[in-house]
Amino acid sequence: MATHIDPVCGIQLEGHDAAGLSEYQGTTYYFHTEDCLRTFNQHPEQYAGSADQEQPGDAPGRKNNDSR
Ligand SMILES: [Zn+2]
Repeated sequence: MATHIDPVCGIQLEGHDAAGLSEYQGTTYYFHTEDCLRTFNQHPEQYAGSADQEQPGDAPGRKNNDSR
């Protein structure tokens, strides 16, 4: 079973343990309480961004570009 991270409080939970879920920008997020779900729905961009996105400018694969 896949585990998910509740993006609001950062807790780990199984899909069947989730009290609610929300889809945002094609990604499904799971929440361990309806409270967290509600919080996420109020500001989804705040939580969706920090959980999964890589930092720009620190992408792997660019370091080899060391041409003189
Ligand atoms: Zn939570």
